[in-house]
Amino acid sequence: MISLPVAQTSSNVLGQTSDPLEYISASRLKCFQTCRLQYFFRYVAKIRTVTSPALLVGQVVHAVLQAWNLARWRGEDASVDAMANAFAFLWESKADEQKMQWKSAEEEEAEKAKAWRILEHYLQNSPIPLAEKPEAVEVVVERDLLAHGLPPLKGVIDLVRGGGRIVDFKTTARTPDESQARHLNDVQLGCYALLYREATGQPELGFELHHLVKTKTPKVVVTALEPMKALQIQKLLRVMESYVDGVGAEDFVPSPGMQCSFCDYFAQCQRWKGSPLDR
Ligand code: SF4
Repeated sequence: MISLPVAQTSSNVLGQTSDPLEYISASRLKCFQTCRLQYFFRYVAKIRTVTSPALLVGQVVHAVLQAWNLARWRGEDASVDAMANAFAFLWESKADEQKMQWKSAEEEEAEKAKAWRILEHYLQNSPIPLAEKPEAVEVVVERDLLAHGLPPLKGVIDLVRGGGRIVDFKTTARTPDESQARHLNDVQLGCYALLYREATGQPELGFELHHLVKTKTPKVVVTALEPMKALQIQKLLRVMESYVDGVGAEDFVPSPGMQCSFCDYFAQCQRWKGSPLDR
């Protein structure tokens, strides 16, 4: 029997710290890979940003899926009706928490309806049977990487299905390209593999990416991926080394590209003057 710390709360566990290298996480690595200057604004300067409607939708969808997984794990009501109630509560509380500033009541209603549409579609079409008990939900794990000369790795795994199938939920505006799924998610899944192996002493059985696609007619696309191979772990450790070297050297240069169109720090970036710690 695999022993995992089941159903811990992830809140605050990965909170902001004063030292960006106190620990490594998949989201920090991903941000640094996307744009080092964006990483600086988010994790070093810690500039607060306004929550966009799309981000709120993603947060609420994730929170409802967490409630759904926990309900199944506890043997509680995980029906679509029960999740509709959870959704109504979580929408209000998250919008309050984020101090959302809607342009109009209609805008909020439209976003709320969009969020529920993709959730309802997922709950009705999920490949996970309602009666299936998760192996673990929202597992918080830390792995010591001192042997590799690296800070510890911390992370939260959304869901583990029987036998060690690690599930990650993603909301996306476009239908994902399944042939690129491994390439685009290698860092995140590699981190999950290291964390899962730390927690259980066993390799994962594989991965499932459950994409909730926010098209006009919502879609669910599940991409199944093989367990991490030794070479992929080796490459991940190299990525981590490069990350630690770059952050340690305060090497925060901009990487203009597609990511700029949805960057929270576009205004700060325009004011950047080239000094490592400029805002
Ligand atoms: S606007 Fe683009 S280049 Fe500037 S910080 Fe954001 S992602 Fe980086």
